[in-house]
Amino acid sequence: MYNGGKREQTDIRFELLCAGYCTHREKMTLQTGSWQQIRIPALFGLIHHPTAGPILFDTGYAEHFEQACSRFPYSLYKRATPVYFRPEEGAAAQLRARGIQPEDVRHIILSHFHADHVAGCADFPNATFYCFRSAYEFVKEKQGLAAVRYGFVPSLLPPDFESRAVFIDTSVPVELPDELEAFDSGYDVLGDGSLTAIEMSGHAVGQFGLYFRTALGEQMLLCADAVWSSKAYREAISPHLFAYWLFPDRSAYNDTLSRLHLTYKCYPQVTIIPSHCGEWWEQVKKGWE
Ligand SMILES: [Zn+2]
Repeated sequence: MYNGGKREQTDIRFELLCAGYCTHREKMTLQTGSWQQIRIPALFGLIHHPTAGPILFDTGYAEHFEQACSRFPYSLYKRATPVYFRPEEGAAAQLRARGIQPEDVRHIILSHFHADHVAGCADFPNATFYCFRSAYEFVKEKQGLAAVRYGFVPSLLPPDFESRAVFIDTSVPVELPDELEAFDSGYDVLGDGSLTAIEMSGHAVGQFGLYFRTALGEQMLLCADAVWSSKAYREAISPHLFAYWLFPDRSAYNDTLSRLHLTYKCYPQVTIIPSHCGEWWEQVKKGWE
């Protein structure tokens, strides 16, 4: 139910977690970076919601990623970005370690359909998947090279994915807080005003970030892959030109980068977390809470 954009104090708790990493040349992700290989974490969010229970924002890598990418052409994905993953790092395993059974997770929010964001979906048999219709429509028929070209590995999604998918209602935009004035529109994910999807296209068709307030009053903006690092939005640094080949909409990518940079400059109180940022990974290693 649309609440007229009214924002109430929430009792949301948030944890940032990491499920594996891949390696890639830093320069591909940051034009001013080095040609050295760097480790790129697959971060994901665990949102403890007072009524909806544990909610995931993406999943990172998962155990069956290896199998799904064992054959050509999906093996190209692994070759382009070698993946390092231990079973205990999977989203399901990390939730179990926190006393949350994967069967009890009812909501998974998917920023986009790249393999390193959706690999864990199959480990949550009772979850509903929230995404933009445009994102799913773009990948759903793609197979083989056409899929890999867009970072999509179809067998990573559970076979009943479509019947469990909910497309976020984009017909009624919510009013955004002043801190998000750089962005045009946001949409209520759960219908209770607690989680807002912010369109951040460019990197992938139908990609969005997630904005919410926590019980501590923090304003979180999980920006998925709109940028690869915090340095990129702090200093408005583009990735290498080669990386633009991966993006379906290059000017939208630049546009989203500018909006994040503006948000950072004008409203530093908003915590912006890119899914592959090494700085945030260091925080996760130290212990989030
Ligand atoms: Zn991505």
